[in-house]
Amino acid sequence: MYAHLQSLLKQRQQAALYRYRQIHDTFYPQTPILQIDGQNYLAFCSNDYLGLASHPRIKSALQQGAEKYAVGSGASHLVTGHSLAHHQLETELATYTGRERALVFSTGYMANLGIVTSLLGRHDAVFLDKLNHASLVDAALLSRAKLERYPHNHMQKLGQLLKQSQAQHKLIITDGVFSMDGDLAPLPKMVEIAKTYQAWIMVDDAHGLGVLGDTGRGTLEKYELGENEIPILMGTLGKAFGVFGAFVAGSELLIETLIQTARSYIYTTALPPAIAEAVRASLIVAEEETWRRQHLHELIKYFRQSAADLPLMPSMTPIQPIILGSSETALAVSSALYERQILVTAIRPPTVPQGTARLRITLSALHDKSQVDELIEALKEVLK
Ligand SMILES: *Cc1c(COP(=O)(O)O)cnc(C)c1O
Repeated sequence: MYAHLQSLLKQRQQAALYRYRQIHDTFYPQTPILQIDGQNYLAFCSNDYLGLASHPRIKSALQQGAEKYAVGSGASHLVTGHSLAHHQLETELATYTGRERALVFSTGYMANLGIVTSLLGRHDAVFLDKLNHASLVDAALLSRAKLERYPHNHMQKLGQLLKQSQAQHKLIITDGVFSMDGDLAPLPKMVEIAKTYQAWIMVDDAHGLGVLGDTGRGTLEKYELGENEIPILMGTLGKAFGVFGAFVAGSELLIETLIQTARSYIYTTALPPAIAEAVRASLIVAEEETWRRQHLHELIKYFRQSAADLPLMPSMTPIQPIILGSSETALAVSSALYERQILVTAIRPPTVPQGTARLRITLSALHDKSQVDELIEALKEVLK
């Protein structure tokens, strides 16, 4: 076994695909500064888009939640793990998304596995964008439905695949905001196509919720689409909401089905109730502190104007990638930035397609314009 593992790891190393974990000594609240080996780094990597991960009110909700309930939930939801905190959070998420009900999962990965395996079986088909998140691909594979993939945002190809499909049930799944590219799925067109071929639609809005739309309700708000058009909405709670966990929102019937059949909901310990309490506080803060979203969108505009000479992608979200091609180049640029005490992760295959290794720059409400200037200056120097 060890000889086999050694050769696997060696291959990764030779292809510049080996991953290392950095240890962060401290997290400076209210700033995007991270400390590694006692040195400070200006970071543009996290998904904490609204800067809520270190918010005092949310921290305090976590502490009080642990006092009121317990640290652990003690069991799965269907045994004795479902606390009032979870239940209130579900009600509030339903209200937040304007849907009948919501169901909280421990992670987004598990939510996706649970939803797709509950809804589909071997006589069905699932239609995925080539750039969909890995958890959606795994969910599709686990469901045993026929996996049909279309080129990124290629609605004509999606239509063709649906037309040819003999499957009993057809489910289209897309990211609302693509996690490594930052662009949006063309949802209005997709809804039209789904109607034509009687397919169901699910949107994973991990990177849109909290950020897009006038009130932060995400990609669906941006496009003015509701439950009638997109019956299955999945969201995560560890990105813009700054905490941990995930949820699905939809009709009473959808949620009841998931409670009865989603194996990644049933056969796992419920999220700690204090985490649910922290998310409840986070929903309120995300709603009330509108300056976070406003400032973030100003920064995105500012970054795109100031970096107009760089090879930017068509993204109006906090995800602003710079495609560099080979894994070696992406690593070299990321290391050169690191030497300048700027942290931007190199994203390489298999996370992104071959030949599209990139820097994935993400902006947060906690950055200021001078920090964006610093990043762009360093990028220009390094890319020369
Ligand atoms: C992060 C992410 C997930 C997984 O969510 P976790 O809560 O981190 O497991 C699922 N889908 C997309 C698009 C994501 O970006």
